Amino acid sequence: MTRFQRICLVHYHEIGLKGHNRAAFENRLSENLRFLLEGFPVVTIRRISGRLCVFLREGTEYEVACAVSELIRRVPGVARVSCGYTCERDIALMGQAAVAAVHDAGDFTTFKVAARRNHTDFAIHSMEMNVLIGDAVGEAFPDKIVRMKDPDVTVGVEVVESASYVYALSLPGIGGLPVGSAGKVVALMSSGIDSPVAAWRIARRGARVIGVHFSGRPQTASTSEYLVDDIAGVLERTGCIAKVYIVPLGTYQYEIARVAPPALRIVLYRRLMYRAAEAIARKEHAQALVTGESLGQVASQTLENIRATDAAVTLPVLRPLIGSDKLEIINQAKDLGTFDISSVPAADCCTLFMPRSPETHAKLDAVLAAEELYPWEEWIERIVSEAEVHTYRQCGLH
Ligand code: ATP
Ligand code: MG
Repeated sequence: MTRFQRICLVHYHEIGLKGHNRAAFENRLSENLRFLLEGFPVVTIRRISGRLCVFLREGTEYEVACAVSELIRRVPGVARVSCGYTCERDIALMGQAAVAAVHDAGDFTTFKVAARRNHTDFAIHSMEMNVLIGDAVGEAFPDKIVRMKDPDVTVGVEVVESASYVYALSLPGIGGLPVGSAGKVVALMSSGIDSPVAAWRIARRGARVIGVHFSGRPQTASTSEYLVDDIAGVLERTGCIAKVYIVPLGTYQYEIARVAPPALRIVLYRRLMYRAAEAIARKEHAQALVTGESLGQVASQTLENIRATDAAVTLPVLRPLIGSDKLEIINQAKDLGTFDISSVPAADCCTLFMPRSPETHAKLDAVLAAEELYPWEEWIERIVSEAEVHTYRQCGLH
């Protein structure tokens, strides 16, 4: 049987709606894919009639093609990725390519063919192609049954100006917009479950992420710092994370705990964290802060406390999880691949010097009065200069 060249066809929808920006978005997605697929046997990536096509080197094994598709499907901007073959616009060859594609699709019972031609210069129209290619597949796999409604496998056939593309394996992508198309944010990242998901949600909308992690060092061990580095490693696979600032906050928390009313500690720590994150955002020319708060999830995440922390900064604070339930967040963390890392227990600055009964309805004037007791402005400068910066391989820089 002829060996056809393997391809991954990248489908996107949102990009298609962007009118005159379309070319810019396609170029960015294409560049991001090129960057993330370094090290894989990719010959080239080309635009073909409303899709991007990743051409794989001759002889690329099925498993490698699957790994490429798995990577592609997690890239922001990708709505779907189909893994198959390209061949000439010859219906007999297309039938053979369909058989090869179906072979890759593994165990299944029912199938249908969905063909489309983007150029009417191809003599066979799509209905006819469906029948002819369906026949070829049926001949090679007599046990497979054609079913129009909800088949197990849909064999996609796309005929464009100069070639045709045939696939039977197709995976949903994560959607969103290509990284680099929506500016930069600073995400406050604990080693907990929520904040990596929050950062990821904003990255999926095209933002580049600068992470900030506040550890309890020197009052706690540096475990949380390693965990955040591992979490950033997971995000790095999608090219969305540029840096993480690691900030030891223990000394400052100790001082706050010493001088301020115990009930206000949490709000005061948070205001310090937000301010330090904002100072980093200004340095990095980022436009917003991102946190993993979800309304009412823990006692401190009340509207009053959110208001009291927001009042410490002027940049907008994005909270993509504010309306999410914990279970939804956990499922996203599992899908993203951060859940196991986040489940490792580690003390960070939030677990340090916790009061017995934290204020859940902090009043701003009481908070402001408490902040008179320590030189937070001076601290912010020091905190930013003391931060350790980890860098990651990011795309979207062109
Ligand atoms: P997470 O699972 O993200 O830790 P959480 O449910 O534990 O969230 P909180 O501890 O109240 O909630 O934290 C709320 C948000 O504040 C976090 O989602 C994160 O954005 C930020 N934050 C908390 N602790 C830290 C930290 N040590 N470093 C950086 N940001 C933090
Ligand atoms: Mg936490």
